[in-house]
Amino acid sequence: MPTFAPRTKLATHKVFNQPADFEGRNLFADDLPLREASLREGGSDLRPRLARLGEVVGSERVLELGAEANRAVPELASFDRFGRRIDEVRFHPAYHELMGLAMEHGIHDVAWEPGRLRGGHVAHAAMLATFSKAEAGTMCPINMTYAGVAALRIEPDAVAPWLTGIVGGRYDPALRPIGEKCGLTLGMAMTEKQGGSDVRANETRAYPLEGPGSRAVRLVGHKWFCSAPMSDGFLTLAQAKGGLTCFLVPRIAPDGTRNAIHLMRLKNKLGNRSNASAEIEYHDAYAERLGEEGRGVRTIIDMVHHTRLGTIAATLGLMGMALAQAVHHAKGRRAFGALLLDQPLMRGVLADLAVEYEASCVLVMRVARAFGETDETERAFARLGVALAKFWLTKRCPAFVAECMECLGGAGYVEESALPRLYREAPLNAIWEGSGNVIALDILRTLSREPAAGAAFAAELASARGVDARFDAAADALTGRFVADPPDERDARFVAERMALLLQGALLLRHAPSPVAGAFVASRLRGDGGRLFGSFAGAFDVDAVLSRQTMSD
Ligand SMILES: Cc1cc2nc3c(=O)[nH]c(=O)nc-3n(C[C@H](O)[C@H](O)[C@H](O)COP(=O)(O)OP(=O)(O)OC[C@H]3O[C@@H](n4cnc5c(N)ncnc54)[C@H](O)[C@@H]3O)c2cc1C
Repeated sequence: MPTFAPRTKLATHKVFNQPADFEGRNLFADDLPLREASLREGGSDLRPRLARLGEVVGSERVLELGAEANRAVPELASFDRFGRRIDEVRFHPAYHELMGLAMEHGIHDVAWEPGRLRGGHVAHAAMLATFSKAEAGTMCPINMTYAGVAALRIEPDAVAPWLTGIVGGRYDPALRPIGEKCGLTLGMAMTEKQGGSDVRANETRAYPLEGPGSRAVRLVGHKWFCSAPMSDGFLTLAQAKGGLTCFLVPRIAPDGTRNAIHLMRLKNKLGNRSNASAEIEYHDAYAERLGEEGRGVRTIIDMVHHTRLGTIAATLGLMGMALAQAVHHAKGRRAFGALLLDQPLMRGVLADLAVEYEASCVLVMRVARAFGETDETERAFARLGVALAKFWLTKRCPAFVAECMECLGGAGYVEESALPRLYREAPLNAIWEGSGNVIALDILRTLSREPAAGAAFAAELASARGVDARFDAAADALTGRFVADPPDERDARFVAERMALLLQGALLLRHAPSPVAGAFVASRLRGDGGRLFGSFAGAFDVDAVLSRQTMSD
C-alpha cells in the first residue's frame, strides 16, 4: 500500500514546527534504561522475545488499537433480546485483538513456562511494562492471570485443568467450559462494599454443596469491584464455617450452564477504560475451595503478591511512554528560536524526569528478579521490595506523567496525544492491590515480622556503600533515626519513602552510569532537589543523563 504524507500546505497557512510521528518505534529496544535493567536482572535469554514485543506494540497499528479500545468502552449486556439473563460484557474488537497479542507474546505465562525460573518474572515485568506503554487496560486481566497461577499452585492437582489452560494458553474469549478452550484467563474478586483493604470484613457466604470434606460450595453475596468479569474463573474470598476462605469460581458451572455470577453494573472509571470492572453478585454461584478453609487470606495473598509486581511494571510502562513522548516532542519543536531540547530549563526538566525513570527501572527489575529466586533471602526481599516499589513508584507516577504532559504544551492536553490516557491511568496502580497507606503499613509489618526481609534490604544497601559518601550518610540517617525508637504507624509513609529512595540509590550506584546515579543521590538523598521535577541545585550532568534518552529517539 502506498503511503501518502499528510498535506502541510493548507489554504491559509503552512504546517511546520511540529514533531515527526511518534509511531513505528521499538518500545522495548529503544528504551535504554528498561532494556539494560531487564537484561541485567535475568531477562537476557528472552531478549529477542522482548524486542519482538516492543516492535509490535510500538507500531502505528497497535498504538491505534490502544486508543480505540479506550474510546469505545465495554458495555454490559445483562439480558439477551428475549429477556434471558446473560451477564456478558461486549468489548470493542480492538480490545480482543490486544488481548490476543498479549497472550500470544506470553505476558501472562512467560514466568511459568516449564523449565523457566530465573528471569521469567523479569521478562514478565518487562513485557508488561512494554505493553502498558501502548495500552494499560488489558494488562489487568493479563496480570491477574499471571498472578493467579501463584495461588493455584497451592493445590496443583485439584486445579490441573486450569493450570494447563493458562500456561501455554492463547486468548479465547468464547464463553465455554474450560476444557473446550485454547486458553484461560483469571480474575480476582475480594473487595466488598463495606471493606476493600480490610478483606476480613467480607460477608459473602459459602455453603457446602455436598458432604463434609467436599470442596464444592455455593456462594451468596456480592463483590463491589471485580475487574475483567469475562474471565474464565475468579479467585474470591467468602466466609465458610471455618472462617474466611479462598474459592475458585468458574464462569461456567460444572453442569455446563452460566454460573450465577450476576454483573450488576460496570464502573464508570476515570481511566483504565478499555478494561471492564464490574459490581457483581453471587446468587448461589458454584465455587470450589482453594487452599485450607479459614486460610483464605493466606491463599489469595500469593496472587496479590504477584499482582503487585504487575502494578509496578505497569507504572513503569506509563512513565516510560510519557517520558518518550516528552523527549520526542522536545526534539521536534522549536520555541523562541531554539529547539525545546536545547533550552537549558527544558533540558533540566527532562533530565530530572529521566533520572526518575532510570531509578524506577532498576528498582522494578531488581524486585522482579527476586520473584524468580528460590532462596529465602530473595523471597523475603521480594515481599518487601515489591511493597516499597509499589508505594513509591505509584505515588510518583501521576506527577511524573503530568510533568511529561506539560513538556508537550497544549498538544499534550488533547486526547489525540497519548498523555491524557496515561494521566488518567496513573493514579490507579496506587489504589488497587493495596492502597498507599495499606502498603506502607504492610512494609512496617514485614520489617517487624520478617527479620530476613530487613536483612535483605540492608544487604542491598551495603553492596552500594563506600561509593558515594552522600548515599552512605543518607543510609545511616534512616537506620540511626529508628535505633532507639522503632517506627510506629504514623511513621509508615516516611519509612516507606526513604527506604524506596535508598534502594533506588543503591541500585543506581551499582548499575547506572555515574552521572545518573550522582544526580539521583544529590537530588533525592542529599537534598539538592526541590519538590518539582527539574528543580535542583548543584552539579547535575544534564547532557550525560539526557543522552541516554535521546540516543534512541
Ligand atoms: C479500577 C479498579 C478496579 C478494581 N478491580 C478489583 C478487582 O478486580 N478485584 C477486587 O477485589 N478489587 C478490585 N478493586 C478494588 C481495590 O482493590 C480497592 O478499591 C482497594 O483495595 C481499596 O479498598 P477500598 O476501596 O475498600 O478502600 P478502603 O479500604 O476503604 O480504603 C480507603 C483509604 O483508606 C486507607 N486505609 C485503609 N486502611 C487504613 C489504615 N489502617 N490506616 C490508614 N489508612 C488506611 C487506604 O489506603 C485508602 O487510601 C478495583 C479498584 C479499582 C479502582
